[in-house]
Amino acid sequence: MKKTLFQAEVIIPSADEAPLKDGGLLVQGGEVLALGQGEELKARYPEAEIVDFGKALLAPGFVNLHTHASMTIFRGLADDLPLMTWLEDYIFPVERHLDPRWVYWGAKLAVAEMLRSGVTTFVDMYLFEPQVIKVVEETGVRAALGEGLFDFPSPGYGPLEKGLGLTEELLKNFSSHPRIKIMVCPHATYTCSPPTLKAAWELAERYGALVHLHLSETKDEVALIKARYGKRPPEHLEALGLLNEQLLVAHAVQLDDHEIELFARRGVKVAHCPESNLKLGSGVAPVSALLEAGVTVGLGTDGPASNNDLDMFGEMRTAAFLQKGLTFDPTKLPARTVFKMATELGAKALGWEGLGTLRPGARADFIVLDLAAPHLTPYYDPFSLLVYSAKAGDVKHAVVEGEFVLKEGRIITFDEEEAQSEVARIAEEIRRLLDKTLPD
Ligand SMILES: [Zn+2]
Repeated sequence: MKKTLFQAEVIIPSADEAPLKDGGLLVQGGEVLALGQGEELKARYPEAEIVDFGKALLAPGFVNLHTHASMTIFRGLADDLPLMTWLEDYIFPVERHLDPRWVYWGAKLAVAEMLRSGVTTFVDMYLFEPQVIKVVEETGVRAALGEGLFDFPSPGYGPLEKGLGLTEELLKNFSSHPRIKIMVCPHATYTCSPPTLKAAWELAERYGALVHLHLSETKDEVALIKARYGKRPPEHLEALGLLNEQLLVAHAVQLDDHEIELFARRGVKVAHCPESNLKLGSGVAPVSALLEAGVTVGLGTDGPASNNDLDMFGEMRTAAFLQKGLTFDPTKLPARTVFKMATELGAKALGWEGLGTLRPGARADFIVLDLAAPHLTPYYDPFSLLVYSAKAGDVKHAVVEGEFVLKEGRIITFDEEEAQSEVARIAEEIRRLLDKTLPD
């Protein structure tokens, strides 16, 4: 089988290892075979094809641990509103008219944007999720995803039983796909009753899948769950016997010390989405405290309608600055830790073996940044460069399973401009719909 040796001025094997100067990464069949000095590997594997990136930084691709990719179609549709108003008055009414075609093109555009910001794996929860799966298959990116489940009928599948049925069908069909993992995705504790949640967990358990849901995002949500069930959201799940290592929650903003300790004890994983939480005025998740307690915390952008981009570089910087600013302590959440959240910890939260590092045996998912830009000159510490100075536009190549998806700044697996013009056309349809359905 063909071997390829990728060389770059700097290679970051993982957040815990020293960056390699003049490094080489040997890849075969989508897997990292060896990592070391470029010249050494060249001598050891003379049969390997050489791809020399030159003055560039090569690092593991990012894991965007929480998004709703197709919501690119709603980017900027309604901003500067509280979460519940935004959801109930704008997003849900338009989503009632959601068309599978919208989901497909929205996700395709999102994949283009994510690849350009270094994301090689993303977590997705939305409606008509088979359309997103189709996009993942066609574009060559990697994803863990599931159909959003609600008590009320969904435009994606109709009544809840059908949603559970669809999820089970996907779990069966994609049990051994190299780039796709299926999750069970009850939307939140305020849109899913205890029987719905229990059915979701039971299904996930049967297939060894993760459950992904929004939890403790806002103060309003905590008050609502408390009024409805007499308990805060984590206690509510704990009482139902559902707070366990199967669970990956998005947000976890409104947590008290007891809940942080409970998350650590129960092995709950967290997707931290700082920019969405800030934009919706939800607050700031206690990320440093969660990490110190031993909770696995990754980083997510959330959907592009509440962020309003899918830029993991922006997300890393915001995450770091927020913890420092809030705690009056600049040592909190250093660059390396944030990078680890965006890579290895995201992979760990998904239980996805071989992702998040470039150690031998890992999947060959990596990104290459051009180091020629003024804002990247000079650099002393590659982690500082990635987290504090680099921007999405610096990503020149992205490779998934050993295959280029972004090469020389161009997406090569699909037509990015087509996705842009299709989404622009869909936005016209949505605009016409808004005139009829939305409040003035
Ligand atoms: Zn979300």
